[in-house]
Amino acid sequence: MSNDPVIGHGAKSDMRMFTGLAASRGFVAGPVFLFHSTANDQIPEYRVEPEQLAHELARLTDAFALTRTQIRSLAIELSKRISGDEATIFDGHLMILDDPSFIGSCKEKVSREQFNAETAVNSVSEKYSSIFAAMDDAYLKERAKDVGDISKRIIRNLLGGADAQAFRVEQPCIVVADELTPSETISMPKNLILGFATDRGSNTSHASLLARALGIPAVVGLGSLSEIVKTGDLLLLDGTRGKVILNPGREERQAFEKMVARSKSIEEKLEQGKLAPGATSDGHAVPMLANVDHNTPMTGLYAVGAEGVGLYRSEYLWLTMDREPTEEEQSHAYTAAARSLPDGQPVTIRALDIGGDKMTKGASASSHKEANPFLGNRSIRYLLRNPEVFKRQLRAILRASVRGNVQLMYPMVSTIEELRAANLELRACMTEMKAEGIPFNEHIKRGVMVEVPAAALIADALARESDFFSIGTNDLIQYTLAVDRLNETVARLYQPTHPAVLQLIALTVKAAHDHALKVSVCGETAADPVMAVLMIGMGVDELSMSPNLIPLVKKIISQVSFVDAQALAETVRRMNNAPADKVYAFCRNQVMKLAPDLLYLQ
Ligand code: PEP
Ligand code: MG
Repeated sequence: MSNDPVIGHGAKSDMRMFTGLAASRGFVAGPVFLFHSTANDQIPEYRVEPEQLAHELARLTDAFALTRTQIRSLAIELSKRISGDEATIFDGHLMILDDPSFIGSCKEKVSREQFNAETAVNSVSEKYSSIFAAMDDAYLKERAKDVGDISKRIIRNLLGGADAQAFRVEQPCIVVADELTPSETISMPKNLILGFATDRGSNTSHASLLARALGIPAVVGLGSLSEIVKTGDLLLLDGTRGKVILNPGREERQAFEKMVARSKSIEEKLEQGKLAPGATSDGHAVPMLANVDHNTPMTGLYAVGAEGVGLYRSEYLWLTMDREPTEEEQSHAYTAAARSLPDGQPVTIRALDIGGDKMTKGASASSHKEANPFLGNRSIRYLLRNPEVFKRQLRAILRASVRGNVQLMYPMVSTIEELRAANLELRACMTEMKAEGIPFNEHIKRGVMVEVPAAALIADALARESDFFSIGTNDLIQYTLAVDRLNETVARLYQPTHPAVLQLIALTVKAAHDHALKVSVCGETAADPVMAVLMIGMGVDELSMSPNLIPLVKKIISQVSFVDAQALAETVRRMNNAPADKVYAFCRNQVMKLAPDLLYLQ
């Protein structure tokens, strides 16, 4: 994307326009809140003059106190969101904060060695972490991570940055950051966040997915915005087309207001018919399901016309808690989701998809840093190597399976052996639970996510031993085209209409239908109306997406006949390896003819 800010004509001299990637639809205007995430190499190190020592010690004490308050409120927040026991994950953090020798060592570093408070905390925490990490006892080993977390937070408070600042936000604002991790996004006070604008990240990074799930407009991949803005600057954010205007002039503000009004009238149109089941204009049913996690307000799914949950991202439980949730906690979360849906609507719980970009300090798939985490010990690979973790999750899913139409889905499968091994674990759990007298649905449906090219190529074999497929285009595109889904510098090459991607989708659909299985798409392409029409034409049976995008896609689908969608897919097939952008432009034109004003929202 264009990273060079454009200076506006005839407007305020400090006006800048940026173009990035449209990550979450909508228009917002508001003051900037600049959010800094602190990396270790950004911690300032300096010596304090003797007359400043008292002030430095007071900064240290204040930062500890603020951190304690934050941790307590996080514990309360978590206990409200998941289950009453959640607050215990922060007990370890509070113990460290209250440990007199921890703060004592930090103070000593300041008063004796005259280091600044940030350096003192960093060096004491490194010492503590390495002592804990070297211990044999697993519980004490874990404390090393707590020390790391806590010190990062104290340092952020000392610097007046990061999520510490988020808690000090008092008025609605647009968060500008270099990049946002999923856990940072989750911990922001949603009622005060108007939008997100980040320098890095891509349309399918998890912060973007969260922004869409929360209905917060967002633009990512903006290059250098965070280096230019200051907290309090005025920003216009167009999450529909991926544009941001900093310190706009009067003309730009008026044009923006017009755009907001136009988008409102289109949004109103979407209200009509959104509760009807998803179908093409000639009555071909295409159920529209929702992508959710444990934080999604499930009661809101009815209002957007969702027909079930096509993807429940279970790893967000891990990421929010920064540790593995217990079987009980998982069962509680999955059961709550299953119970909240109308009878018969599916809840498709995806087994833990940890690794790649989905990691935190306390919840990572690997004990050591992997050079290529996206190709490493992640998802199903991690689960099969950690059968106890897998078993706890399978048992929790099985326990929830008597509370609704719960389906199980395996992520990142690339071999038939993985599918077999996963099914064996499932069977072992069933045998165990039967002996324990715990009820479960013996006929729970087991699906495979097709998100690695290998899975699409062996889809016929996978179909023989599973009950449904769900195509994860976010990863399928990334792995097929060797394009990092999070890297904005190669975002141009991330092309859903690349012939290789379309051929893999076609293979998957054929294999599924040959074995009478349904195939859905739960990657972001499902929420792109142009792609949705094309994929329905290719035979995809269901679509699953961020809940707030369901009304738009449903509306467009309802205006296109199945026959037209099939004709479009056939023409694309005959375009015979045409460049991806040409194929997309062709499809867009065709769909635009059928629903012109709705495509304006694209
Ligand atoms: C996908 O890869 O398309 C998908 C839905 O999974 P995630 O985005 O969670 O990796
Ligand atoms: Mg994926």
